[in-house]
Amino acid sequence: MVLTVVAAVITALDTIQRKLGILVEGAALVNFDYISEVAVTTLSTRLANILLPRDCYLCDAPSDGGFLCPACELSLPRLTEPRCPICALPTPQGSACGACLKAPPHYDATHAAFRYDFPIDVLIHTLKYQYRLASANYLAQQLIAIVPESSPDIILPVPLAPARLSTRGFNQSIEIAQPLAKHMNLRLARSLAVRCRDTAPQVSLPRKERAKNIRHAFECNADIGGKCVWIVDDVMTTGATLNELARILKLQGADRVENLVVARAVS
Ligand SMILES: [Zn+2]
Ligand SMILES: [Zn+2]
Repeated sequence: MVLTVVAAVITALDTIQRKLGILVEGAALVNFDYISEVAVTTLSTRLANILLPRDCYLCDAPSDGGFLCPACELSLPRLTEPRCPICALPTPQGSACGACLKAPPHYDATHAAFRYDFPIDVLIHTLKYQYRLASANYLAQQLIAIVPESSPDIILPVPLAPARLSTRGFNQSIEIAQPLAKHMNLRLARSLAVRCRDTAPQVSLPRKERAKNIRHAFECNADIGGKCVWIVDDVMTTGATLNELARILKLQGADRVENLVVARAVS
């Protein structure tokens, strides 16, 4: 009986969230924050987590209160092999890769928790396209587990284009970066840089065209002279988006730019 009532409350909250999502689509056009939708989602998720029995998010096996069951946890494609310190692609003995030596990117280092592979791709996909914000906190915790010993001055989530934000209702990079910023005792620099124009989704383009597509997509007017910036994103594929953002940050005087990404596409 109690569980039925709780489930009904959660369903009602999810309905409110969807309705707010519609409002947020309009609101984004006049620069409202998308926080209200996220707040409701978080509330319903928290209620569900506290009051309903929790099973593994991926396979529904008992998880003893954990986000994943032990078997799914073990199956995650953790990136443990030696890799290029600049772009995180696997290399012998962890030396810099040929591409980074030949044409050094604007960013100085990349830290990635996982290969972009099953089942991390499922968690990221459900976060982005099914509004499963519970995944964001789990992925953030995985990122926190691999943070470098140094700490940054600024943590910047990759900005989403306004049109994409209004369609999705939230920016997954902000959701992943927020717990990380809290862990580092820093305020998240949500608006340090903005996406000043919509671009075709990078995933829809051949690798060679991605750098051209993203060129001049970001703007940053802040003086960040001498600062170390961590850019947070969910997936790094070719690195074109992160490289363009790093280019802008360096133009504004950033001393060092490091990427912290949940997953790195390796193939
Ligand atoms: Zn499982
Ligand atoms: Zn490299």
